[in-house]
Parts: sequence; C-alpha cells; structure tokens
Amino acid sequence: MARSKSDISNSAIRIFLQEVGKFYDEARGYEAFGPKVAQKDELLDFFDHACCFCGVEIDRKSLSQDHLIPMNKSALGLHAWGNVVPCCSPCNNQKQQKPWKEFIALKAGSESQARIDKIESFVATKKYLITTDSQQA
Ligand SMILES: [Zn+2]
Repeated sequence: MARSKSDISNSAIRIFLQEVGKFYDEARGYEAFGPKVAQKDELLDFFDHACCFCGVEIDRKSLSQDHLIPMNKSALGLHAWGNVVPCCSPCNNQKQQKPWKEFIALKAGSESQARIDKIESFVATKKYLITTDSQQA
C-alpha cells in the first residue's frame, strides 16, 4: 500500500527525534537509549517488572516500550532516557497518541495516582526536562 505524505513526514520526524534523543542522553551523561538488555533491565527494575500503565507483570520478553510524550511532529517526544517507559503490548497498542495521564486514568482506576507518581519520579530521576504544550493533561 502506498504511504501518504503524512506517514512519510512522520517517519522522518521519528528518525530526527531518535537522533536528538541520543544527543540529549549523552548531554545528561547516559549511554544513548537503545535496544540493550541492560537498559531493558533498568526499566523493568525501576517499575518493579510491571506495566507502568495497567500494572500487569512484564519481563524482558513481554516488555513493550512506550514514549510518554509521543514521537510525532506536534508532541516532539524524544527516544531518550526518561521518555521511554516499560509497558505491556496491549497498553502500548491502546495508548497511541493519548496523553499518558489520561490513559492511566482509563487503565488503573484507584491505582492511577500511584502509577502517575511512579512515572513522574522516573522522569525526574532521569532529568527529562523537555516539556511541550501537548504534554499537559
Ligand atoms: Zn499494561
């Protein structure tokens, strides 16, 4: 199937955000975020081997990674430490471009605030300080 102009420009934006993410990681003293086992383990450990949205147990094999701030041309989230969180694949498929706090409210019910706090402490630990208007939920 032919790809639309918007698909192509979004792919280009994603490549760009991935590259900027590498520089942002290095500027903060981290090894660039990538598909490394040690990095997956760090994410899993921080989040107690649970999906950061719904809380289901996940491991290296079932781990899916979501960008809190989506990697698209309006949100401009980076592929970098502090913006990538561990989740289950159903949550990753359902969240799409939704604001993450809104998504947690749908998935986590009475656990929502605890999950939000955990994610915010992760973002703060990693000093991911880039915010955009579309991040406000
Ligand atoms: Zn989940």
